[in-house]
Amino acid sequence: MPLRKKLTILGSGSAGLTAAIYAARANLEPLVIQGLQAGGQLTITTDVENFPGFPEGIQGPQLMEEMHKQAERFGTQFIYDNAESIDLSKRPFHIRTSAEEIYTDVLIIGTGASAKLLGMESESKLMGHGVSACATCDGFFFRDKEVYVVGGGDTALEEAMFLTRFATKVTVIHRREQFRASAIMIDRAKRNEKVEYMLNSVLEEINDVSKGEVTSIKVRNLVTNAVTEHPADGVFIAIGHKPNTELFVGQLDMTEAGYIKTDGVKTAIKGVFAAGDVQDELYRQAITAAGTGCMAALEAQWLLEAEEEQEGHGEAPKKQVAEALAKQ
Ligand SMILES: Cc1cc2nc3c(=O)[nH]c(=O)nc-3n(C[C@H](O)[C@H](O)[C@H](O)COP(=O)(O)OP(=O)(O)OC[C@H]3O[C@@H](n4cnc5c(N)ncnc54)[C@H](O)[C@@H]3O)c2cc1C
Repeated sequence: MPLRKKLTILGSGSAGLTAAIYAARANLEPLVIQGLQAGGQLTITTDVENFPGFPEGIQGPQLMEEMHKQAERFGTQFIYDNAESIDLSKRPFHIRTSAEEIYTDVLIIGTGASAKLLGMESESKLMGHGVSACATCDGFFFRDKEVYVVGGGDTALEEAMFLTRFATKVTVIHRREQFRASAIMIDRAKRNEKVEYMLNSVLEEINDVSKGEVTSIKVRNLVTNAVTEHPADGVFIAIGHKPNTELFVGQLDMTEAGYIKTDGVKTAIKGVFAAGDVQDELYRQAITAAGTGCMAALEAQWLLEAEEEQEGHGEAPKKQVAEALAKQ
């Protein structure tokens, strides 16, 4: 028997869970399809020190568990699965997971974006313990330390320059001789005396998993094939992000990089909203994801109220009331 919902939210990161808290408190009884990374990207990090409300900081997984509990408290229903297919061609929209079929009047997409990683075991084991994919988030922890940045695009150079505010030395490891970054960015980075380069080189290994911290790295020079070991306190992987938008290809407008195009949080399809990293190529922070999650839930609520009103029942749409009051 298919589930029939007013509102379904895809994703259980900061965007999805914030949307769920707002929607549940508006009595919309939302369904959250959590995806296989329940809690989203913050579950792979340790200290989060920039989410307001936690002066001593909070562990990423704990923050997400608290958000989950808050959404659950107001009646959110959860499914621990991925949405495997979705049909946005008509309302109610149709979603399939491995075990469920869902029809929903309104959909909020919060499927996030995954930082691209190199795929090494030591990289994943030390993620949040000296390895990071976000300089804005974790740069502060590397005051007076020596760090490496892997990548050769604008993001890598930008992250390297940002890290020089904290670290004593930042070395960019790039597999080619030439950077893919824009000329202006290369110029700025080259003028920064704290940034050094290992070109034609790839990261081979991050030590030391047995100690649970980064102590050194091994780098292979692709020209000489020589492997050298260097003391290190941190490694930032800056080889880009991949928005999780495969399900919507051909159904929603996307940017060149595959992020969902929105006007605020509205997509071009009525009743489909997108929030968080899946539509945010620029900020990609938990607080901005939460902010747009809130916006999407309010837009969903206002749309459902307006439609109920049109059908001749329900209260006057809150958005129209708010707009009328603002004009007075
Ligand atoms: C290592 C690291 C450290 C970070 N540290 C900080 C920090 O200190 N402070 C900060 O503000 N930000 C930090 N960030 C960034 C922050 O994690 C993201 O900006 C935030 O998680 C984005 O939230 P989101 O809800 O948009 O997406 P995500 O957190 O990416 O969540 C996406 C959700 O979608 C689900 N999903 C994906 N595909 C499907 C599908 N097909 N069906 C259903 N569900 C699906 C996933 O399971 C997941 O639950 C960090 C990121 C990383 C990688």
